[in-house]
Amino acid sequence: MAAYDLVLKGGHVIDPAQNIDAVIDVAFAGGKISAVGKSLDTSAAKDVRDVSGKLVTPGLIDMHTHVYWGGTSLGIDAEDFCRKSAVTTAVDTGSAGPGNFAGFRKYVIEPSAVRILAYLHISHAGIFGFSNRIMVGESENLALMDPETAVEVAQANRDVIIGIKVRLGRHASGIHGMAPFEHAIQVAEEANMPLMVHIDEPPPSYAEVLSRLRSGDVLTHCFRPFPNSPVGPDGRVRPEVLAARQRGVLFDIGHGMGSFSFKTARAMLEAGFMPDTISSDIHALCINGPAFDQVTTLSKFLCLGVPLKEVIRASTENAARALSRPDLGTLNPGSAGDASILSLDEGAFDYVDVVGEHVTADKKINARGVVLGGRWWHPAA
Ligand SMILES: [Zn+2]
Repeated sequence: MAAYDLVLKGGHVIDPAQNIDAVIDVAFAGGKISAVGKSLDTSAAKDVRDVSGKLVTPGLIDMHTHVYWGGTSLGIDAEDFCRKSAVTTAVDTGSAGPGNFAGFRKYVIEPSAVRILAYLHISHAGIFGFSNRIMVGESENLALMDPETAVEVAQANRDVIIGIKVRLGRHASGIHGMAPFEHAIQVAEEANMPLMVHIDEPPPSYAEVLSRLRSGDVLTHCFRPFPNSPVGPDGRVRPEVLAARQRGVLFDIGHGMGSFSFKTARAMLEAGFMPDTISSDIHALCINGPAFDQVTTLSKFLCLGVPLKEVIRASTENAARALSRPDLGTLNPGSAGDASILSLDEGAFDYVDVVGEHVTADKKINARGVVLGGRWWHPAA
């Protein structure tokens, strides 16, 4: 008789990493996934939840969030967000830099019920000047580039720092073009970590940025609208985008308030170019729209015709691989005891992108529950 801590009964389990798409049970014990299968024995289980009619997926990973609440003006509350989005791992991308990472770790990451992993910014205080009234790019002043401390902080926090972040573009780095990147790539090489690079309007160009990324590095905001869109004026995927994917560069959505357009997404998907990861880039200025949350961002891809299994893969298996965390993003027994409970609702739902295009579609993914470390965390809605 198996003494499970928790069993999710009768849900529709979608685990792309294991190629599972079936109505089966998921059991947890000792904080980990214990078993996945039909009609598991629940006679000795401490907690049994009937999730029939719901989807059960590996704990969703949002590859691009800003959750340094209180320490940065763009930060939102990770636990609130994760409840609403059924996210179990929020990856903070560069909110903190080497000068203020200690506070992020002590006051946000460590007390948090949800898992928070981080890309460390190379700019001294991370994304410090980002609000409705103040907008100062942290890469605009090269005196703020802090590569030596960034290496020290990254090496001292390898349990939670999984990569290095830099933001490039007119809004984030002013006239400096690729100059901040030269600092970031050195830090990434010295610390032996991947890079996540943000791109906004030129300079630099999409092609200049992509030409420097290595296998395993991530380009976020990859489905931007014009300018610096991955789609050329002929409506086709830019050849440098295809070449970068061939080299192993990863493409992340990072929706946010300025970085996702339906027009770009349609052109890319019609050309067969799925992003590797779908993420919200949630922060204080996009949480009330147009990004809202991770389930809304995922739903936009579903409504663009991407099969549900591929949408889930982009927030589980693919994200775990980008993070080099094989214990996440799957319900394989022995993995972290995280799961997301979702519903696939039908109706008439309005979606909006960052340039104001509205799309009405008949499906929406909604969060219905969260399992963290083998325990039910989110009361059913
Ligand atoms: Zn961001």
